[in-house]
Amino acid sequence: MADRDAVKPESFGFQAEVARLLHMMVHSVYSEREIFLRELISNAADACDRRRYEALTQPDLLGDTPLEILIAIDKQAKTLTLSDSGIGMSRSDLIENLGTIARSGTARFMEAVKNAEGKAAASAPDLIGQFGVGFYSAFMVADKVRVVSRRAGSDEAWAWESDGLGSFTVEPAEREAVGTTITLHMKEDAAEFLEKYRLSTIIRTYSDHIAIPIKLTEGDAAAADTVNTAQALWTRPKSEIGEKDYAEFYRHISGLFDEPLRTLHYKAEGKLEYTCLLFTPGMAPYDLYDPERKSKVKLYVKRVFITDDCEELLPAWLRFMRGIVDAQDLALNISREMLQHNPVLAAMKKAITGKVLGDFARMAENEPETYAKFWEQFGKVLKEGLYEDFERREELLKLARFKSSAQEGLTSLAEYVSRMKEGQKAIYYLTTEDGAVASPQLEGFKARGVEVLLLTDPIDDFWLGVVTEFDGKPFQSITKASASDLSALGEAGDLGEAAPAGDVARLIAVMKGVLGDAVKDIRASERLTDSPVCLVADEGDMDLRLSRMLKAHDRLKTVAPRVLEINPRHELVRQLAARSGQEGQYDTIALASHLLLDQARILEGEPLPDLPGFARRMSDVLLRLAQ
Ligand code: ADP
Ligand code: MG
Repeated sequence: MADRDAVKPESFGFQAEVARLLHMMVHSVYSEREIFLRELISNAADACDRRRYEALTQPDLLGDTPLEILIAIDKQAKTLTLSDSGIGMSRSDLIENLGTIARSGTARFMEAVKNAEGKAAASAPDLIGQFGVGFYSAFMVADKVRVVSRRAGSDEAWAWESDGLGSFTVEPAEREAVGTTITLHMKEDAAEFLEKYRLSTIIRTYSDHIAIPIKLTEGDAAAADTVNTAQALWTRPKSEIGEKDYAEFYRHISGLFDEPLRTLHYKAEGKLEYTCLLFTPGMAPYDLYDPERKSKVKLYVKRVFITDDCEELLPAWLRFMRGIVDAQDLALNISREMLQHNPVLAAMKKAITGKVLGDFARMAENEPETYAKFWEQFGKVLKEGLYEDFERREELLKLARFKSSAQEGLTSLAEYVSRMKEGQKAIYYLTTEDGAVASPQLEGFKARGVEVLLLTDPIDDFWLGVVTEFDGKPFQSITKASASDLSALGEAGDLGEAAPAGDVARLIAVMKGVLGDAVKDIRASERLTDSPVCLVADEGDMDLRLSRMLKAHDRLKTVAPRVLEINPRHELVRQLAARSGQEGQYDTIALASHLLLDQARILEGEPLPDLPGFARRMSDVLLRLAQ
């Protein structure tokens, strides 16, 4: 291409976020700058994986260049050069990948930096360690970086160059074979990274698990030494793999930068042959609630990377898991489309899901504290399985943990059942936004020592719509009228004297007249001990919070009117009951009825339908006080 040679270096500005990130890298005081090597090796290894995959369908792509990563030290020139025989980058790849922030991990890093600004607590260096920032971390050690790359399938090479100060150039270049060469012109204070011994230590620490040979050479030395084990980590005997190796592999494969909470590594033999190396992250990954709910586990076939976009490996409610599955029984040239509805994969998915749940059960049994931490992070996601996966329901119910009105910490359903009172037939629960222990509906249960599970996740409303029982005991919302029959569950202790039944009946009749359609019914309550009133859903109506939530999402046109329960033992109700038989008290009772209903709505977190009316009545009452 004659005119290609005539092209002058073209200059581009970095995307604003990249410029900021680079500014941080250039001025970095992060003490573990050595991670730049991990990041560059990780990219090179990914590029080799992708090239190998593309070559499955286009064999001539691979040619006879071995897949490897070569690192060369030149002390004279003060350069460190990393070459890989991976997939390479075209001109537009270079501009796109090394000029913008494409990956969400880096974007998240920038967000965290922004949030930390102004707060002394977290400085950028700490955050670098937490996130890892990919290619741009090269500028922690180099004041100039040149990338020469040739995309597989093309015979053009392009060079990208930058000093990390706001712009980069792209120009035509030469590269004999496919792949990428990155030359780092090291900063004065980064000379340590030109020492062969230091580099091999770094490579062994962070990148030993990389399955592609990493070769290191210095000066004119013709032969380069392979520094890493260069064997896919999961194929090595477990006894030879240290916790640190697993952790580094986890970070490489997941793009996350915490410690894995749990590692599950096993080889299945027999009908299905595959190796699994799966990690439970220590913290909920940033994309856990992405609407796609995609599994991030990578599929390999006979050690060749196939895809990291395989929904058939784990159910969506295990999407927080990271790691790899290496299958023996799939054809190497399987296309990504063929992965859907593949019977071998379906059988593997079932087996792997069972293994993962078994591992969680073991953790719950043997390490309850770790398990509580785990549940805190991922419980919400696992509960999606209760709703979606009938086959796993029993297992998941056993794994589920809940807050309870009776004790600190979390409880399992089996523990709840073992504490059920004599005569108690149902598992009582309250779904609540904030674990509201001050809910009036709870009072009667507490007074009788009946434990109530406090469910705080929005998903709870959904699975409770389809899961009806555990261990033969039905789930029962305490905001439903049917839960009001508490008398069978024992005495509540001394709650004070109730207003005479006749007075209460008369008061209820007056209140019904006042409130009309605003309530479905008014009843004397057994569930209240301290509050004068509360709202409940009628038998057969939807749980209060669920109907509110559906209404908020336009899934429900109107919320069914509630039942107002009044507490005949409450001083206010007793007074009103007594007055309901007296002349000239109607206005007072009417005023109180409206205000009590609004109060119950407020406690439920429901909007008041008539705010001006509420305000007017409120001032009315205050005025009476003042007179
Ligand atoms: P990430 O690896 O998480 O995507 P990086 O900042 O490390 O983020 O790299 C950005 C992108 O640049 C990569 O996704 C890849 O597309 C491209 N890239 C980086 N290094 C190489 C390489 N050696 N060969 C091919 N592509 C590369
Ligand atoms: Mg990377």
